[in-house]
Amino acid sequence: MGKTISVVLEYGKCSWGACYFCGWGKRKAETTLDQLRRKYLRIIDKYRNIDVVKLFSSGSMVDPRQFPLEFTRWLIEEAKKRGIKEIVIEAKADDVTIENLDAIYIDGIKITIALGLEVADDIILLRYYRKNTGVKDYIRAAKLLRSRGFGLRSYLLVNGHPIMYHNKDVQEELLERTIHLSAQYSDSIVVINTYPHRDTRLLLDWLDGRWKPLDEGQFKDMVEGVIHRLGGRKIGEWKYEYNGVVVEADHSNFAFVPKIPRRLRQKIKGVGKDILLHPHFEVWQDFFTRFYRPPPGKEYALLLPCSYRKPYKKSKTHRAIFSAISGYPWFRRIHVIVVSTPGVIPWEYHDRYPFTHYDWPEWLETEEVKKDYIDITKNRVKAYLKAHADKYKLFFAFFHSESETLEAIKQAFKELGIEDKLVIVLDREDYERIKADMGKEKIGSSVVRHPLALEKLRSVLKQYLEASDKE
Ligand code: SF4
Repeated sequence: MGKTISVVLEYGKCSWGACYFCGWGKRKAETTLDQLRRKYLRIIDKYRNIDVVKLFSSGSMVDPRQFPLEFTRWLIEEAKKRGIKEIVIEAKADDVTIENLDAIYIDGIKITIALGLEVADDIILLRYYRKNTGVKDYIRAAKLLRSRGFGLRSYLLVNGHPIMYHNKDVQEELLERTIHLSAQYSDSIVVINTYPHRDTRLLLDWLDGRWKPLDEGQFKDMVEGVIHRLGGRKIGEWKYEYNGVVVEADHSNFAFVPKIPRRLRQKIKGVGKDILLHPHFEVWQDFFTRFYRPPPGKEYALLLPCSYRKPYKKSKTHRAIFSAISGYPWFRRIHVIVVSTPGVIPWEYHDRYPFTHYDWPEWLETEEVKKDYIDITKNRVKAYLKAHADKYKLFFAFFHSESETLEAIKQAFKELGIEDKLVIVLDREDYERIKADMGKEKIGSSVVRHPLALEKLRSVLKQYLEASDKE
């Protein structure tokens, strides 16, 4: 069996561009047709034995307002010349006309048109999803495609608007109805889980707490429940069969990260609940808990405080910590995670907004603020641990003994009953020794960059990680 390859060929802009959940359709691609031709040939000539080529265009390749149809026809011709059996092209239902189809049709290769039906309900489609086509348009286009010898791949969308998010039963009933309808016309169906694209209303809904993306488990449960009720069956990982049609569930878009629009970015400064629960921190914590995967090979976590200077890697504190431990072979097995005002921040993301744009002036803290900080931070650490604790052998917490963050971390491990996974690097004795050495009564966060503290960190990590090397 030959390969299936995917090629992204973006040109111009989707002529509709207004769908509620879609960020791609709002973007204008600054490419030329020559660039696209070169890219396409480079990719299809790179592989031998291609059976299927799928083209992704952010819009419609059968819409002369976006793509010249002779260009689309050329893509098909080149695929046919190379013995490719099938080419899949994205289109909008309103572009599926006899004239447009005739302009691209070539005999001797299967041309499949991928149409976004999304959901078989006009009120959702037109009022909420803001599509320009309804169910009748899809059926008309589907029938025309079949009568002209084209294949049809239908895209269905789950959770594309807050109204769907808040009405799970309706969402499931609609998905059931939509799979049933589209299976009557399609060669294949893809059920897509909506994730928040940049510059969409849906992203703002997430920030405002009106909507959330479904995580892998929620999405899988929904699709499998619906397939089961329809009398379909599972035929592979994320693959099902209903009425003789293959139904794929697209979960690959979990590679997304929250992209907060530049115009909304701000310096998040101050103390208190409003700062701690700032929506820009909240969506990232949701992301780290439900979508993020810790990097492979990181068996140990090192929990660190933040720094005034951002990004943290530029601060004296983090430079001192890294220079104390990064030269050891075991360092590559350590996952650095900062725990602070925005919550839990895996190091890979520490130099992104909003982790570079906040400031928590400690001198403004009251006892109540400290209590809120501990509660909220504890819950965030717990959420991270529930999702990922099994990926790490141990967690090392490197904080000064009076730190509220350390208190929150301790409480989180205790409440989850996994205190045996937590190693507190600096004890009270270390803290007192460092205070005496500095000749100060209160030394706060600078303690973690003191040579005695760094020495202790190095020796604790060596002790545990070198011992685990010998096991
Ligand atoms: S979903 Fe399709 S039709 Fe809607 S804006 Fe995006 S690219 Fe355009």
